[in-house]
Amino acid sequence: MANRPASSEMPLTCFHVGVARFSPRTAPRTDNITVEGIGPDKPLLFAHVKSFADFALRTLLPKATYARVNVHIRAGSTADEVHSSDDAVTGPVDWNKAYPSSFVIDLFDQSMAMMNDFELLLIVSHELVHVKQFALGHLRGRSDRIFWKWMSRECREPNYWLQPWEVEAHGLERILLHYYALMAEIPSPFDRFLNLRTTSDASVDLHNSDRL
Ligand SMILES: [Zn+2]
Repeated sequence: MANRPASSEMPLTCFHVGVARFSPRTAPRTDNITVEGIGPDKPLLFAHVKSFADFALRTLLPKATYARVNVHIRAGSTADEVHSSDDAVTGPVDWNKAYPSSFVIDLFDQSMAMMNDFELLLIVSHELVHVKQFALGHLRGRSDRIFWKWMSRECREPNYWLQPWEVEAHGLERILLHYYALMAEIPSPFDRFLNLRTTSDASVDLHNSDRL
């Protein structure tokens, strides 16, 4: 559910996220996040997607929820007609569960071809906010996306940018990635955070960094 017109200027909002819950000294779980479709030619990006997803989920979720959540990140799949305008889409494996614990994030091939590494991480960041929303029962829907509930109330807002789950995801996606970059000691595309205007500013190439 990441949908971003090239010309968009998204407002930046300050959020306090629970970064303090994350400690780099705590060994990340490695069994709950799987990444598929980022090939052996990009081992650093593969490692970053995995460790960033772990960081984001620890930051966004209470410990007990984090402990039961599994996410499969699948890069390079082809969007179907329903999702043709999306860069990526996230859904629980079982849409009927009030508190699902298994999720698939699809990063669509046609968008990935135009993304640099940080733009891809930004999309992952956005989709992980949706994972948080589903896992905590804040967002419920149907796989055909005809019906959505936000905080237990039916929401029929047709404007993508005004849907409360998208407002939250767009608000948190950059701050999560910025904190991750600081924690992982890699160049943050958001060092000029308050001046950032478009995602095209996020042009730092992870492969030029010698740090993981
Ligand atoms: Zn979204």
